[in-house]
Parts: sequence; structure tokens; C-alpha cells
Amino acid sequence: MTRQMLTDAVLSIAEMPRVWAVLPPDVLQNVLTLKARPLQREYERELRRLERAIRQAVTAYLRGKARQVAESMESMGVWRWGDTWEDELYDILMPHLADAARLGGKAGLVGATAAGVNIGGVAWGRASIAAAQWAAQHVGDLVRQITETTRAQIQAATATFYVTPGMTRGTLEDLILGTGIEPLAVPGRIISAAERAEMIATTEVTRAYTGANIAAMQATGVAQVQPQADKVPPLHPRCRCDAVPMVRDDGTISWKYQTLNDDLVCDICGPLNEQDIGQ
Ligand SMILES: [Zn+2]
Repeated sequence: MTRQMLTDAVLSIAEMPRVWAVLPPDVLQNVLTLKARPLQREYERELRRLERAIRQAVTAYLRGKARQVAESMESMGVWRWGDTWEDELYDILMPHLADAARLGGKAGLVGATAAGVNIGGVAWGRASIAAAQWAAQHVGDLVRQITETTRAQIQAATATFYVTPGMTRGTLEDLILGTGIEPLAVPGRIISAAERAEMIATTEVTRAYTGANIAAMQATGVAQVQPQADKVPPLHPRCRCDAVPMVRDDGTISWKYQTLNDDLVCDICGPLNEQDIGQ
């Protein structure tokens, strides 16, 4: 998407921002809410597409590694973590999560415009830099977390392989992927690769979108308060909640929790819906 298209998109949504700026807070609040909802729906399809792409790519990645480990165990009786495996995962996740972050950053700008702020070139630049920085900082951490779990699951499964005479390569592969028969002597529960890929896709798209949205709003100087760190979605695996701008009675712009996108409105997110989560 070019910058001009982005500008057009904002301008088409943000008609008469100056009028909004003089509306009483309660009315302005309604306007912001009304503007935020169609925006979420507009982005919904793109976010679901990114989830699907991540889910498929991560599943293929985990299956590939399980196959390599099982083959190595069968032929040599040992396995080792590949030097390039973390980089491969990074390359899989980065483009999709950067896209989710860009969408979040764009949502931040649209939110800023809706709040009556004149979006100039500087703000556009700051917001897109904030979104890109957000992705760069977090994808590395995510890759390390996923790698840690993957390693632990491979270690648990190969330990079982060592102590189970006659176990086939196929059964080991199933054990690593968590799709096999009852995981016999494997300590702890092995989460299936498909389940992990789905959890990663949903949760991390939410994290990238929301994180970049907040970073962009903060970078443009629109949101005057930071959201409380422990109330920023996602608050649980598969969370699809959102944080949207809200205007407080004193006119400052804060953040409001929204469970709109959550499939399962859970005990954690339910009570937070529509709450001011600003500091
Ligand atoms: Zn949620």
C-alpha cells in the first residue's frame, strides 16, 4: 500500500475532524467508538489472512523439523539443533507480523485523525517507524520463545525414543509433533504442532496489531496516557481483543479495552470490556 493510498484512506474516514474536536467528550466518545468499529471490521479480513498464513507456515516448519530429527535419530541415534533453524523461523514470522504491525500503526493514525488531530507528514513517518520498530523488537523475542518450547518437546520425545526399544521413526515423529498415540512415558503434556501453530498465529497477530497501534498513537503524541502494561491484549492464548482510543471526561485521550474480536470472551477479558485501561 502506498503512502498516498494510506492518506486517502484516512481522509475518507476522517471527515470534519475539526468539528469533532469541539464536540463534548461524551459525544466525541461515541464518534470514536463508531469510527473504531467499522475500522476493526475492515481490518478483520486482513488479520485473519495473516493468521492463516502464519498457522500454515509454522505448521510446515514444525513438521519439517520433526522429520529431520526423526531421520537423524533413526540413522545416527543422535540429533542436533540446526544452526539456521532460528533464522528460518524469523523469516517465516517477520513479514506477516510486520504486516499486522503496519495495520495496527495505520489504525493508530486513523484513531488520531478521528480524535481531531491533523495528520501531517511527520506524524505519518513517526507512526510507521514506531510500527516497524515494534515488529523488529518483538519478533526476535518470539522466535526465542518458540525455539525454547520446540527444543523441549523434541528432547522429551527423543528421550522416550531412547528408552523404548523398537519405536519407529514415524512414531517418534508423531511424538515430537504431539499427534501420536498416547504419549506413553513422555513427561508433561506435549502440545500438538497444529495447536501450537494456531495459538501462535492468533495470539501474535493480536499482539503485533495492538502493540503497533499503541506505539503509533504514542509516537504521534495523540494518546496522552500509556495503557497499563498488564491490560494490553492479548491477555491469554488466542486472544483477539483490541485497545482503542477513548476520551476521558477531562478531554485526555486514553485507551479502552474491547473484546469485540474475541471468539471466546473469557473470564480474563470479559470484565475488562469497555474499561479505561490507561495508567
Ligand atoms: Zn481476549
